[in-house]
Amino acid sequence: MPVNAASIQAFSTSLGGRVFSPDHPQFNTMAGVHQLAVTGRPALVARPGSPGDVARAIAFAREHALEIAVRCGGHSVAGHSTGDGVLVIDLRDFRGLQVEPGGRRLRAGAGLTAGEVAAAAHGHGMTVPFGDTASVGIAGITLGGGIGYLTRKVGMTIDHLVSVELVTADGRLVTASAESEPELFWAVRGGGGNFGVVTSFEYRLVDAGLVYGGCLLLPATWNVLRGIAPLAAAAPEDLTVIADYMPAPPAPFVPEAMVGQPVVALLGVFSGDLARGEAAWAPFRALAKPIADLVGPMPYPAVYRFTESASLPGPAVNRGILLEAIDDGVVETLRDAYASSPGVMTLLQIRVVGGAMARVPADATAFAHRQAPVAVLALTRAESAEAMPAATAWADGVLARLRSRGVGAYSNFLEDEGEARVREAYPHSTYRRLAAAKAVWDPENVFRRNHNIRPAV
Ligand SMILES: Cc1cc2nc3c(=O)[nH]c(=O)nc-3n(C[C@H](O)[C@H](O)[C@H](O)COP(=O)(O)OP(=O)(O)OC[C@H]3O[C@@H](n4cnc5c(N)ncnc54)[C@H](O)[C@@H]3O)c2cc1C
Repeated sequence: MPVNAASIQAFSTSLGGRVFSPDHPQFNTMAGVHQLAVTGRPALVARPGSPGDVARAIAFAREHALEIAVRCGGHSVAGHSTGDGVLVIDLRDFRGLQVEPGGRRLRAGAGLTAGEVAAAAHGHGMTVPFGDTASVGIAGITLGGGIGYLTRKVGMTIDHLVSVELVTADGRLVTASAESEPELFWAVRGGGGNFGVVTSFEYRLVDAGLVYGGCLLLPATWNVLRGIAPLAAAAPEDLTVIADYMPAPPAPFVPEAMVGQPVVALLGVFSGDLARGEAAWAPFRALAKPIADLVGPMPYPAVYRFTESASLPGPAVNRGILLEAIDDGVVETLRDAYASSPGVMTLLQIRVVGGAMARVPADATAFAHRQAPVAVLALTRAESAEAMPAATAWADGVLARLRSRGVGAYSNFLEDEGEARVREAYPHSTYRRLAAAKAVWDPENVFRRNHNIRPAV
């Protein structure tokens, strides 16, 4: 049925007036996402306030043959949470947050961000292990897997997920957990938004009160670049670091002469005894004279402030890959890539993982690349449409050169790079199992604006 004004009006009334058309003064702000390279012009934005509203929005989209874009934190690197002519189901009003008595579990509405949940859990000396950035939505990061500052110590975000409530393509509200619909629960832990619209998440909390962490700014010398990965792998699992090879930001702690110069911003968290934390950071401090040393005891959520400026919205090209190792060849590739990057802002990120993440069996969740010890992300900003082809060619070139050591992809770091890249995120047996779950829960592929799993036939 075509979308006429009367049907939009009726739909809006059924959602208590929370449906917005392009003529609404705040429409562009509301439809905007973090990935500015995607110029989405949705047909409508719906902001449901209850699971029933979500079901009504899904039904409306199906009735009018509108593609659905699900939006929570809006940080999809592929820009999947908007799109031309789509119905955006925006869950930012799902903001409920409860820590269970005893303080070991937390239930959170899908519209919350990692920073908001971390701030609430911190009052209990606990956290949920999300990623490196406060503004990322808990929904997208959790459904894709979740790799962050506590990955080596406690595993991925999905390893702490207890249950989700989601609205299915046919409008049912379903709880998925180890006990209830366990196959669906397996699928949502890594399979992304393929199976329904999640309205709330329940997590087991992990200890993270005062941690020994922060940011160490090192010169991007050959010695530093090749020294980080071995040190990160040899460090106690209580410490996870993320190395960002990037231009020094114009921050108060950066000497003016260094601003814009290539540096390695080593971000990380040691969660445990603070004296042991200091010892664990010592080898990194010894790599070179730090340009700035902002590492020390701090409340866990404080570590998010170091990514605030580098994580502002922008038009970016991202290429991510999971590697079997970082050797001198990889370091050379990264060094050459930085030198040849066309963007005003280029960031080459190395995450050494393993530890608790690798101890979870590969078939326990739909994120199966548990044994991959390293994740690398190449990102460059293209400030204009004209700059996009060069940025894309550069990022594709970096990916091509890293491929000889590649073991897979991580869906949360994928753009729309084609079916083959989605398959890289899911080994064959995982993909087959996801496709079978998709055939049960979304046989008509209603939820396809994502890293899509085709329903098994
Ligand atoms: C600056 C930045 C930093 C990042 N850092 C990390 C990091 O440290 N670790 C890491 O693992 N990842 C990281 N990511 C990747 C991030 O996890 C993904 O981009 C994630 O999808 C973002 O979630 P969101 O809710 O903000 O995004 P959205 O754009 O709102 O959602 C992304 C997609 O997830 C699905 N989805 C979202 N919410 C729901 C829902 N409620 N129900 C069903 N499907 C849903 C939809 O397919 C949607 O298109 C980062 C991304 C950015 C831009």
